[in-house]
Amino acid sequence: MNRRDELAAGLESTERRIVAACRAAGRDRGEITLIVVTKTYPASDVELLAELGVADVGENRHPEADLKFQELRTMEADHAVTMPRCHFLGGLQTNKAGAVARYADMVHSVDRIKLANALSRGAEAAERTLPCLVQVDFDATNPGRSGVVPSGIPELAAAIADSSRLILAGLMTVAPLGQDPAPHFDHLVRLSQDLRQDHPDATIISAGMSGDFEAAIAAGATHLRIGRSVLGERPPAG
Ligand SMILES: *Cc1c(COP(=O)(O)O)cnc(C)c1O
Repeated sequence: MNRRDELAAGLESTERRIVAACRAAGRDRGEITLIVVTKTYPASDVELLAELGVADVGENRHPEADLKFQELRTMEADHAVTMPRCHFLGGLQTNKAGAVARYADMVHSVDRIKLANALSRGAEAAERTLPCLVQVDFDATNPGRSGVVPSGIPELAAAIADSSRLILAGLMTVAPLGQDPAPHFDHLVRLSQDLRQDHPDATIISAGMSGDFEAAIAAGATHLRIGRSVLGERPPAG
């Protein structure tokens, strides 16, 4: 099988699972955005995905994402590829935020006020407006993880909403490893309801990966971030 056929098959089987999970949850497929996570995969895969109709891709590392999207823009100029939107999903150092604000179309991993301020300055310098999600962490046993604890959401959300260059678009989480994800996704949805009391436009709920997206759909996720199920297993990190 060539790569294009492999990716088409991965997309098709993933789509079938999404549709089945929507049906089981009594939800409309149209409420859900699939973000195909292309980290570690080459720009040529993103190009093929774009040709197959994928409009949203996720990346978790700078400068990998930046270089890949530069390459894609060159391909776009050569043969009319429609550029997908770039969702930045990864832990982000403040000193790289300015660069990410130049090319990302949404940042899912805003977990501290300093980072929100750095993204705001970067978006200002790039004359862009950048939708941001607050990343929430439910794993208190592992303090090294990205994400703000639930009690920290209001203050961080206000910092994003107060920036003229950032848009507070919603919440994101990565379920803690080795635990039933369902209660955490339910918790995220309740936190989203709380957030929308003050910020009615912050409607995005970004949750669910290859291993747990059915549970995220059942809970009420609006954006799924799926890599392996579409692209195949990633090579182990070097
Ligand atoms: C890698 C990654 C994903 C996708 O994970 P898969 O298991 O490949 O579906 C989703 N979200 C984040 C934040 C990631 O880093």
